[in-house]
Amino acid sequence: MRLLTYDREGRPRLGLAVGDLLVDARDASEALGGARLPSDMIEFVASGGPALARARGVIEQLAPDADALDRLSAPIGSVRLLAPIPRPARNIVCVGLNYADHAAESRVTQGLPEHPVFFTKPPSTVIGPNAAIPWHGHVSTRIDWEVELVVVIGRGGRDIPEERALEHVFGYTIGNDVTARDLQAKHQQWYKGKGLDGFCPLGPWIVTADELPDPQALRLRLNVNGAPKQDASTGDMIFGVAKLISVWSQGMTLEPGDLLMTGTPSGVGFARQPPEYLQPGDVVECEIQGVGSLRNTVAGE
Ligand code: ZN
Repeated sequence: MRLLTYDREGRPRLGLAVGDLLVDARDASEALGGARLPSDMIEFVASGGPALARARGVIEQLAPDADALDRLSAPIGSVRLLAPIPRPARNIVCVGLNYADHAAESRVTQGLPEHPVFFTKPPSTVIGPNAAIPWHGHVSTRIDWEVELVVVIGRGGRDIPEERALEHVFGYTIGNDVTARDLQAKHQQWYKGKGLDGFCPLGPWIVTADELPDPQALRLRLNVNGAPKQDASTGDMIFGVAKLISVWSQGMTLEPGDLLMTGTPSGVGFARQPPEYLQPGDVVECEIQGVGSLRNTVAGE
């Protein structure tokens, strides 16, 4: 199932995808009678199994009913999609150097990490599909890209064992961990250079975990202005999704709607010869097999 958040008269609303169409979760569930679905993604995720079952029921009831679909749906292409979780309740947790070839191109002298390298991006970094990545030219001109598989936590928990960790995954989306490399170097830490406003494009939707039973078998790609830059498999992660969730949750409670960016493969701009950085007007497209495609343009100066 694909779940999305879209803009309706300036407010975020939860939508369910029915093929190329979108139905508003709350309106459709009301129109069909029975339990009413939330209009907010985090609330939906926190509602767990019953909400998922109800959403599935709504889709199954609507899909074959042309008249009802006609009344209750709109083409997905006709609405403005927002990030599936437009304003996460907490910082997005990220993992650095989680692909060996990226760790190598980053010239990390101590070799591969023995434990996941966690850092965070603040909620204010999040922007949606097709939204402009802001150009902060007075702060940085070395803006880089990083395609990443993003995990959306469903059921919360603490000290989650690795073998049960995937049971805590609600679904997956795509993220671009946009990074100001000059700030990253200057401040010797990732938070500042990766934390600028608009530096976390997310979307285009969440694909529920049942559709991607093996998160370590997905091709992920990124291109800039149509030219391929990154192309790898999530199977190349040093620490897989289950391991990351398990380690992250040690002594820390995960909550429904928490987001985990799982790291990027090689092919980022700063490591290329010569280095490449994003410029105003550039179009960055991230694609993950089984999830979809996330496209953003860098804002003009
Ligand atoms: Zn990253």
